[in-house]
Amino acid sequence: MGRAFVYVILGGGVAAGYAALEFTRRGVSDGELCIISEEPVAPYERPALSKGFLLPEGKRKPAPARLPSFHTCVGANDEKLTPKWYKDHGIELVLGTRVKSVDVRRKTLLSSTGETISYKFLIIATGARALKLEEFGVEGSDAENVCYLRDLADANRLATVIQSSSNGNAVVIGGGYIGMECAASLVINKINVTMVFPEAHCMARLFTPKIASLYEDYYRAKGVKFIKGTVLTSFEFDSNGKVTAVNLKDGNQLPADLVVVGIGIRPNTSLFEGQLTIEKGGIKVNSKMQSSDSSVYAIGDVATFPVKLFGEMRRLEHVDSARKSARHAVSAIMDPVKTGEFDYLPFFYSRVFAFSWQFYGDPTGEVVHFGDYEDGKSFGAYWVKKGHLVGSFLEGGTKEEYEIISKATQLKPAVTIDSEELEKEGLGFAQTV
Ligand code: FAD
Ligand code: NDP
Repeated sequence: MGRAFVYVILGGGVAAGYAALEFTRRGVSDGELCIISEEPVAPYERPALSKGFLLPEGKRKPAPARLPSFHTCVGANDEKLTPKWYKDHGIELVLGTRVKSVDVRRKTLLSSTGETISYKFLIIATGARALKLEEFGVEGSDAENVCYLRDLADANRLATVIQSSSNGNAVVIGGGYIGMECAASLVINKINVTMVFPEAHCMARLFTPKIASLYEDYYRAKGVKFIKGTVLTSFEFDSNGKVTAVNLKDGNQLPADLVVVGIGIRPNTSLFEGQLTIEKGGIKVNSKMQSSDSSVYAIGDVATFPVKLFGEMRRLEHVDSARKSARHAVSAIMDPVKTGEFDYLPFFYSRVFAFSWQFYGDPTGEVVHFGDYEDGKSFGAYWVKKGHLVGSFLEGGTKEEYEIISKATQLKPAVTIDSEELEKEGLGFAQTV
């Protein structure tokens, strides 16, 4: 049993949705494109899962976000691709189906249902999986009140556990994106939160101690407790196997009605190991998102691609790069002559409580903070490396201000003034680039 398509997208997440839209805009014919996804729903904007999706139920507005409201590509203010849209565009959407093996040489995929699907071009968009506590030697991930957050099923489960934990205690493991966004959502749901992570401050890979301290102070004012420089070692369970407390390496024990774990991800590359070149944990692609096999492309979290601006191969785990790498790969496949190199400026953002920040570039080199860290509403930082601006962070900016720092960072301009002046000039510096 088998079917053949010209184009197959393996994975049905953010990158797949944006790739599908680009295919239709470039004129794919009925029956040429197939998307296979393990998830039972059409591609959606994953970022909603830690934000709008976790808002409390009830009379309070806005109501929690639910599908179909956040199918791709609404996150980029573009068309909402519902299952009907795929049908209307002659795109075969194979949902709830895991691909268990791929034969790159024969250009075939084998699904968990036993179907063989062949392709002329394959786009790998398998994203990533959440790291499990077991990988750090801690047992208990299967307990009903230990929650990870990667897909819709995880989010539904977390929302259910949140509802049954009102006024209870949550322990959030990890001080990265999931930890910070979920902690804020738990507070909004009237749950007492303690965050536990090994570093000296939250968002250690991006935030400076000064930036982190501002957000941490705000979280503390909302009742969040921080336990830093330690990790969990084990759980206490009741007779039903539910976690009742978290034991930490520093000897502390924290009561828990709910545990949220956000300790990083691993890209889903396993189907291709030994078949395609892997670099920095992802599938290595060139500036056209083409892998070491010329019929196979990789996009989104799973792809390691050349970031021209920094002259380095990078794997990025953010939605903007998933969207843009998807469009670029489709363009490279359908219009190889006119498609140039992918020239991408890394862009990260988050929204928690009333905060909203954006970061462009690379957080390396010397940091210069600017703006008002006292009132905490509008402040930022520049990263300067070898005399050039390489990274810009801004909290509370307007659309125009974010555009200004993005454009300036893309140009990687020389910084000829000293740190004090740069601090004084603040946003004005980016404006004059
Ligand atoms: P994914 O969206 O993860 O999609 C991968 C798809 O492949 C999934 O549907 C998966 O089921 C499927 N798949 C994998 N293996 C197989 C297989 N063998 N067979 C069939 N299907 C398979 N980034 C930001 O920039 N800003 C944010 O605010 C933000 N918030 C986030 C919030 C959450 C809760 C999470 C989890 C991530 C967030 N991100 C955010 C990161 C962003 O969502 C990812 O970078 C983006 O989803 C990557 O897109 P992708 O298509 O590469 O992978
Ligand atoms: P992150 O990599 O952002 O953060 C993981 C955090 O957990 C780090 O602080 C890490 O420390 C810490 N950690 C690692 N091991 C342990 C441990 N054993 N015990 C306690 N803490 C530990 O990953 P997340 O899980 O937060 O996010 C998952 C994915 O989702 C990422 O790809 C992220 O980009 C994406 N996401 C993005 C969002 C956004 O862009 N706004 C929002 C939500 C998710 P260390 O740094 O030392 O490893």
